[in-house]
Amino acid sequence: TRPAARARGKAAPARTPPELSSPDKVLFPGDTLTKRDVGDYYTRVMDWLLPEIAGRPLSVIRCPGGIDSACFFQKHHTAGMQLVETVRLKEESGAGDYLVVTDAAAALELVQFNALEFHPWGAQAKTPDTADRIVFDLDPGDGVAWTETVAAARQVRDLLARVGMESFVRTTGGKGLHVVVPLNPGAPWTRVKPFAQAFAQSLVQMEPLKYVATATKKFRAGKIFIDYLRNGRGATSVASFSLRARSGAPVAMPLRWEDLGRVKSGDAWTLRNAPARLARLKAHPWGRFGDLRQVLPEGFGDD
Ligand code: ATP
Ligand code: MN
Ligand code: MN
Repeated sequence: TRPAARARGKAAPARTPPELSSPDKVLFPGDTLTKRDVGDYYTRVMDWLLPEIAGRPLSVIRCPGGIDSACFFQKHHTAGMQLVETVRLKEESGAGDYLVVTDAAAALELVQFNALEFHPWGAQAKTPDTADRIVFDLDPGDGVAWTETVAAARQVRDLLARVGMESFVRTTGGKGLHVVVPLNPGAPWTRVKPFAQAFAQSLVQMEPLKYVATATKKFRAGKIFIDYLRNGRGATSVASFSLRARSGAPVAMPLRWEDLGRVKSGDAWTLRNAPARLARLKAHPWGRFGDLRQVLPEGFGDD
């Protein structure tokens, strides 16, 4: 069975997703893909996408006029959303009502609002202070070849393995790769963030010509930025199977490590070719991601 079918079990009857308004509106002009095409894509991949986003505080990138007009990152619930739920979370000052989806109908309601990208927290809405995954966001600077980004992801994997942590890789639909580390049981962000920072800094120490871990753009040319800043309370990463609001309608795609070498670029998977790949898959490329029990290593970066 597919992951969503398993998770849903014998729960309440499915809610009906809203009908899309303006289905012929072109959202990807260069690819002549319409809102209907986006809705059809998400409907086809929903059993794969839903477990990635359900029950987590969720941000979306909405593009009401298509990807060549203004798009915006939305994290708070807004008027008119009837199927999308909310979770009230504290913020730097006060609190906000964050978006949460629990079923396909709610996710498709966000598509009705012209959401193209889905970006969950690395925490569940019920336990927003507890990270259940670490994401190392590998961002190649100008002049870095794809094969070097692939090699970097493998080096991150190998170094994580040395401290006893198994990791998983996905294309982002953009230029880079994400290396994702499940934590089970989870850990507070106040421990996860320093770990991620120390880990990134140790990579830079090992390979100072290859990597940077500082956000300053001017230091990045020819190097790969190990962006550990995805690992804080409130930070998000793109969901596996999400579209990206970029030319070509690329998709963030989880891969088996063995398959990474055959991938030609971070945007190799798209709205057009991803559903066929997923239909051929017998199991999630990340295999035992959800069942793995592993915790942060003791003492890493404490010296
Ligand atoms: P690429 O491979 O091209 O870098 P990416 O998804 O990793 O694709 P980044 O720019 O590195 O893109 O961003 C990493 C993550 O930061 C995104 O996946 C997203 O969840 C989050 N993010 C991006 N833009 C914003 C924003 N404007 N506000 C908040 N979070 C954002
Ligand atoms: Mn990135
Ligand atoms: Mn980044």
